[in-house]
Order: sequence, then C-alpha cells, then structure tokens
Amino acid sequence: MGLVASSLASLPLVLAWGSFWSTLTFGLEAVFIGLLCKNKRSNIVLTVIAYWLFIGMPISWYSISQYEDFLDSHRTTILIKQLANGILYAHLAALLLPLSPVSRFFSLAGKIRARSIKEQSSHLISSLLITLGILFFFYTLNQNFNNFSEKFAQSHIAKHNSLEYQLSLIMEDNQKAIAELKYTLARVWEDKQQRGEVLLDFNSRNPSFKTMVVANKSGDLINSSPPELVQNVLSQNESINIADRDYFNQVIENSHVYVSPGFVGRGFGRDLIVAVSTAVPAANDSTKNLGVVEGSFVLTSEKSLKQAINNMSDSVEAVLLDQNDQVLMSSEKLKLLSLSPFKLVPGVSKFYDHDLVNLVDGNGIKSDEVYYIEESVFHWGWKLITLRNEQVHASVIEKSLILFAFSIVLVVLLSYLFAWLISHSWSYYMQKLIQLIDRGEDFEKELIEFEENDELPEEISKLYQEIKRSRLKITNMNQVLQNTVAERTEKLQLLNTKLNVMARQDALTKLDNRRVFNDSLNELWIECQRELIPLSMLIIDLDYFKKVNDTYGHPIGDQVLIYLGKELSQFKTDGVKCIARLGGEEFSMLIKGIEHKESIELAEKIRSHIAGLSISIGTDKFINVTVSIGVASIDATKFTSSKLYQLADNALYEAKHSGRNAVKHLELD
Ligand code: GH3
Ligand code: MG
Ligand code: MG
Repeated sequence: MGLVASSLASLPLVLAWGSFWSTLTFGLEAVFIGLLCKNKRSNIVLTVIAYWLFIGMPISWYSISQYEDFLDSHRTTILIKQLANGILYAHLAALLLPLSPVSRFFSLAGKIRARSIKEQSSHLISSLLITLGILFFFYTLNQNFNNFSEKFAQSHIAKHNSLEYQLSLIMEDNQKAIAELKYTLARVWEDKQQRGEVLLDFNSRNPSFKTMVVANKSGDLINSSPPELVQNVLSQNESINIADRDYFNQVIENSHVYVSPGFVGRGFGRDLIVAVSTAVPAANDSTKNLGVVEGSFVLTSEKSLKQAINNMSDSVEAVLLDQNDQVLMSSEKLKLLSLSPFKLVPGVSKFYDHDLVNLVDGNGIKSDEVYYIEESVFHWGWKLITLRNEQVHASVIEKSLILFAFSIVLVVLLSYLFAWLISHSWSYYMQKLIQLIDRGEDFEKELIEFEENDELPEEISKLYQEIKRSRLKITNMNQVLQNTVAERTEKLQLLNTKLNVMARQDALTKLDNRRVFNDSLNELWIECQRELIPLSMLIIDLDYFKKVNDTYGHPIGDQVLIYLGKELSQFKTDGVKCIARLGGEEFSMLIKGIEHKESIELAEKIRSHIAGLSISIGTDKFINVTVSIGVASIDATKFTSSKLYQLADNALYEAKHSGRNAVKHLELD
C-alpha cells in the first residue's frame, strides 16, 4: 500500500523533472517503514529518521549529483529539503492512518497487533508535534529566505543605482563643461592665441581631461592642451588631421555632445581614454559649425569611481561597458582586461525562478560563478552592469539549512520525548490497574494508590471500583457454589452407595444377585486354581413352586422366597463365599476349599432343614416346601468355571427327576 501511495505521490516529480530518483527514495522509504513497522513493532518516528540518515540521504546525495541543472551550491539545500520532506510526509501519513475510513481500508491488508493507549497516544502526539514543528520551520524559513533574498536584491539595486548616479554625475559634468566650452571658444574662435588660453584655462579647471584639442572644420588640429602637442607637430610643418575620428565626424554635422567608446590614445601614453567632443558653433549663426573641441578623458584617473567600483560589497561586482560592449572599467575581482569584449550568457534556469547568467570574458571563457544582474544604459550609449554572486546567497541559505536539519532532528526527538511524557501521564493509572489485574491482585485489600488518591482520573476510579465490586461478587458466588457442590456431592455419594448395593443385591431376598454370583464364580475359580484347592457349587431349586403361587397367590410366593433366603443365609460359613438368588425360585452357593463329600453333606443339611420348616403365611396358616439340590465340585486347575455350573445344573436335573426333595451330585477330577 505504502509503495503504491509513494509512487503516486512522487509521480508529479517524475513527470515534471524526469526524476525517477525521488520515486526510488520515497518508494524505498515506504518499503523500509512498512517492513520494520509491520504489526507496529517498531517506532515509526525512529524508523523514519534511521531511513533518511542511512539510506534516503546517501541515495539523494548521489541522485542530486547526477543533475547538471543544479548549482553545486544548492546541493546541500536540496538534500536537507528532501530529509524534511521525507520526515514530514511519513508523519502526515501516521496522522492520517488512525482516521477510521483510512484505517478500515488498511486493515484489509492483514490483522495488526492491538496497541496500548500509551503507544497510540504517543504515536499520535509525536506525529502531530513533528508535523506542526516541521511545517512551522518550513514557514519561518521560507519567510526568512524571502526576506533575505529581497533584502539582498534591494541592497544590490541600491548599490547599482548609487554607482550609476556617481558615474552619470561625472560624465554629465564633463559633457556639460564641454558644452559650455564650445560657446566660449566660439567667441574667441578667430584669435588663435585666445583659443589656446581658453582651452588651457578650461583644462586646468577640469584636470580629468588628460589632453584637449581643437580642430577646424576640415579636421586639422589648431589648438591643444597642453599646447606642446600641436606646437611640436606644427613646428615640423606637418598638419594633424582628425577628420577620420569618430569624435570629429559624429559632431561636426550637428551640435550635440559625443562620448566615444574607449580606446588607447595615440602618442600620449597607453592610457585607456574616452573622447568627449562637440562642435563649436559660429557666434552669430548657431547652425553653422566652425570646428570641433575634444577632451580625452581618463576614466581610471577618477579615484572615487575606481573605489566605488571595487568596493561595492562582498558579493556585488560592477562592469562599465562602452557602446561596443568593451570593458571600460570593472571590479578587480572579475579580472577583466580593459577593452576586452564582454558577454553574458544565460545560466542554469531549469529549477530557478530568477534569471541567472554566466559571464564570458575576452578569451571566451565562461565563469564558474552564476550571477543575478542589474543593468542600466546611459544616454550616451554606455552600459553599467552590476553582478551579484549567487554563491554568496546560497551559502547563507545553506548555513541556515544545516541549522534547520539539526533543528528537525531536535524537534523530532523532543516531540517524541514530550509525547512519551504526556501519554505516560495519561495511561499511568490504567497501566497500574492492568498490572494489578495481571498479577491477580486481591482487590479487597486497601490499595492506597486507588483508594485515597485525589488525582485519580474519574474513569479510572470508576473502573477500579467496578472491578473491586465484581471481584467481591465473584468471591461470594464462589463460596455459595462451593457449599452447594459439597451438599450435592454428599447426596450423590449416598445414592451411589445405594446404587452399588442395588447393583449387587437381589431386591426380594437381599441375597447376592446373579451378577455378583458370576463375578464371584470367576474370582473364586482363579483363587482355587492358584491355591490348588477344589471349588464347589450348589444349585437349590424350590419344588413345585408354581403350585404355591397358583394356590396362595404371587405375594405369598414372594414371602416364601424371602423366608427361604433368610434360611439359606444361616448356612454362611468361612468356606461359603457366595449365597445368591440366580432368578425365580433358584438359588446357588459357592464354597471354596471343601471336599466334594463335605459339600454333599452341606447340601443334605440344607435340604432336610428346609423340608422341616413350617412357613407361616398368615394367621394360623403354614405351608411346607422342599428343595432339590444339585451339587458339583471340580479341580479348578483342570476345568473351567462354566463346567462347574454345567455339572451342578445337571445334578439338579437329576434330583428333580429322581422325585424332588433330593440332593444329587457330580464330581470331576
Ligand atoms: P419344579 O418342581 O419342577 O421346580 O416345579 P416348579 O413349579 O417349582 O417349577 P416351574 O419352573 O414350573 O415354575 C416356577 C415358578 O416359580 C413359576 C413362577 O410362577 C414362580 N416364580 C418365579 N419367580 C417368582 C417370584 O419372584 N415370585 C413368585 N411369587 N413366584 C415366582
Ligand atoms: Mg425352577
Ligand atoms: Mg421349582
């Protein structure tokens, strides 16, 4: 999700700048943070800083160096801006994530670990503080830079204007002086002597004209200052003609003041000079020109100008150009030769809103420095160009930005600390309560921190009281439950005992039932087998019992059975291990360890005992019953228990067939 988002976000940069690097850095940031903060295990604030310090900034540094359109002096600035952007966007995202529609959308990506109130609030607060902090820094920095740039530009303009003023003052003075001189000369034109004096007098008052000459209409020199210039030449009978010079033919046909481009004077040293000239009109007819007066002006001799050009400021340089764009004067720092051609070419412009220029010197070499320029053209055709070095501007910004980068990191850390402190104080009692619950703490105990604390938040206090009440309720309920369970258990045990007895007892006669008989038979058989002693069985069946039922009714039959059971019980001795009712009117005895003979004797004893009984079945009513008994004994090591049963049953059968009220026996060794 983060990858898609960051790709979309940086798409405009790709389109506008063709910069795929920003997609890479922001995309990697999304992946890095996504992986480390998966399930919200890591802190997003620290993860973002770590990413930008160790991955984002090195990549950005490399990517910026790939672009020639950036000025070197701007690379640090761009880098720091990237850092601030990265941190800002990450925290804006962190602020957006908890909004419910966004979080619902992202929760589709998978289940995430629940976070504590402290984690949630500290995340939110720190993101908020960091976002606000960086935005505030951006705003104030932008303000400062704008102010700074404006001041910088204004001071440049002010310096430019003052230099322009100074220059025009000097040149205007010259031009005005020459313009006035022409009238004076016109008045004395006919007198060579007077002309010479006027010229000399003028030159002595305007010493910045190194030499001055007066020529007649045909361009022949007729006067000079100093006078030797012409005198020396004329004494050799030669004439000097200046009709080919611009300063002559530019003015002879009209009467304005001409200022020439710079040139190196002929015959009077190698100074760079400019000529200021004008035509001398006839005193009585100003439309008619008599000749030309010219002053050779040496710019460098104007000390104040030289100083002004060189000491504009640390970052502003100046160049004075003539009509042909040749250098007349320039700041020494620019290292330009006098009269060399001067050119400006547009500098980097792609990423900058100001016009920047590079300077091309006389040898066609382009300057490394980039400049902002101010330019003014004088009415006589010269140009003043002042250049403000961009580098100086950038270095001031760079310094502030480095400070800004440190501030960002500081803001981030302080915000994090502050957020932690706030969220800690918010969640302190909640955490404490959770700890108590986790430890299974006894809430009946007086917990002073919760009981006698005026600062305890209302919600926590309610929560605590509710937990305490619930705990108490649960304890009481537990007690009641325990008592009930104990009572029920006791009852259940009683019932169980009864059930056990019932499961083993014959309900009518209270003798052992058939199940106990079967179990006893198996156990006794194993015992006898182990102890090598015989095992005997008696099966006792009432004779003609059906008749008793038929005659006296079923209840009387039952009475008889109960009676018989009691009588049989009397025959219980050590050897007699089990006296059971097998079903209906059939009983059985299991005897361990007696000889076959003895078991027959016992059976006989029982038979005769029963036969001798008079059983009361109501007032003065008695009946007699007899039993037939089958006796069997076996050697348990040789035969199975079912064989014993089979033998006893067969013996009973025999007893019945022999006429009943008899004992029959079968024995197997
Ligand atoms: P025999 O001498 O051949 O043993 O004859 P008998 O009548 O005793 O034997 P028979 O098997 O023909 O009849 C058994 C009778 O026992 C039938 C039944 O009515 C009676 N009887 C079985 N169980 C009970 C009981 O629990 N109570 C009463 N009252 N009579 C029972
Ligand atoms: Mg029977
Ligand atoms: Mg019977």
